[in-house]
Amino acid sequence: MKNSFANQCIRCTVESCKYHNGERDYCSLDSISVGTHEIQPTESRCVDCESFEAKIQG
Ligand code: SF4
Repeated sequence: MKNSFANQCIRCTVESCKYHNGERDYCSLDSISVGTHEIQPTESRCVDCESFEAKIQG
């Protein structure tokens, strides 16, 4: 399924997420949740999009 909406406030390149815009590098959600898996995050790789859901292939 292609998500036609591209929220231009949320750039994203995670094509394996089911909310990724099908054609452009944006998220199709109105808003997302961002969190961390670290006790004290110090760089960008310490934080995560917690709205991610894996795209079902097929
Ligand atoms: S939910 Fe998160 S990972 Fe998925 S497309 Fe949106 S910003 Fe990217």
